[in-house]
Amino acid sequence: GRAPQRLRKELKWACPLSSVIRKEFEKNLQKILKTIENKLQKWYKRSVNNFYLNLCKGVVKMKAVILSGPNDFAPGEIEKPLIGDHDILLEMKRAAICGTDIRILEGTKTKGVRYPSVIGHEICGVISEIGKEVTGYEVGEKVAIANVIPCGSCPSCLSGRENACMRRKAIGYEFNGGFEEYIRIPEIAIKSGNVIKLPEQVSFTAGALIEPLACCIRGLKNAGTGFNDVVLIVGAGPIGLMHMQLAKIAGAKQVIVSEPNPMRRQIALELGADKAVDPVTEDLAGIISDVTGGLGADVIVMAIGVPALVNSTLKLCRRGGTVNLFAGFAGTGECTIEVNTIHYNEINVNGSTAYKREDYLQAADMVISGKINLDRIATHTYKIEDFQTAYEMCKSGKGLKIIIEP
Ligand SMILES: [Zn+2]
Ligand SMILES: [Zn+2]
Repeated sequence: GRAPQRLRKELKWACPLSSVIRKEFEKNLQKILKTIENKLQKWYKRSVNNFYLNLCKGVVKMKAVILSGPNDFAPGEIEKPLIGDHDILLEMKRAAICGTDIRILEGTKTKGVRYPSVIGHEICGVISEIGKEVTGYEVGEKVAIANVIPCGSCPSCLSGRENACMRRKAIGYEFNGGFEEYIRIPEIAIKSGNVIKLPEQVSFTAGALIEPLACCIRGLKNAGTGFNDVVLIVGAGPIGLMHMQLAKIAGAKQVIVSEPNPMRRQIALELGADKAVDPVTEDLAGIISDVTGGLGADVIVMAIGVPALVNSTLKLCRRGGTVNLFAGFAGTGECTIEVNTIHYNEINVNGSTAYKREDYLQAADMVISGKINLDRIATHTYKIEDFQTAYEMCKSGKGLKIIIEP
């Protein structure tokens, strides 16, 4: 109100504007001031609204499995996460327990683990809220989450190994993970393309298992499995069963699974394994030799993290063949190896960690097009509040993939 009057006085004194120009200027000034006032009012109202809204939201509690320290975890209640303008809030529908989760929970893996936190990195759900700056997604959409977010600029990322990123961030580690009712998907994950839409026909369980399948696809590529290969998969847990199916799809002539658990051998055969061998009662080396005319397997994937098995497994590999140490091994993985087996037989030994986003997209594509059976690999589903039972079932080895639902 007063500012224009004062301005008018000052302008009169400062410059000899003609009265016409002066009136025009004042009219515009009034308009500009009115616009600024409106904008300020709107901003103020929105801020106050958001403040109270967030205050109310903060009071909302949800179920979660709270990891307080090594071997110290329990289901309980935490505050439902608030999202920023660039985030998505995901309503968890299914989250699978991974072997890595078990090692974190029991305390044998502590590197990169936050306390307290919520872990779980095999996640599928429905979008519940969208930050107002997020585009391309809608509330109610079914999505799976690629949990690993590479930095894009470290030496690993720059040399095409984003799966081994040195500054990676991950949901289930740096950000709270899947064993909770609502998960905040941070801006960085959305911008890196880690939120993948799924069609109706894909089950939430299969959606959650895209993540471990992506890891297996990375392992398959590292192992170099191809046309007419004889492949040995050591261990027919969920990961071994994925590797078995992938090897068939990649063109392997014969896929042999070694697994002492009869239920797992049965499912391996159901899902297409050519042979399922009990290494305790049967002569695995003899069987591999028979199948390959004494040459040994072209490719071996270790899908069980028992260091003591590595040496005997190397001896089952053909000259010039590949042994992929896919599983995470217990402790530091220390064991005794006759390295001359590797030397004289020119065996390629390699590892595999996580996945590239391209592997995740391929995994999602395989699941969407029904090329791989992941639902058969999930044997038990538990509620968040029954997490202890789920954990014990997982450790017992009586089931395969154990799934958590809200
Ligand atoms: Zn995992
Ligand atoms: Zn990086």
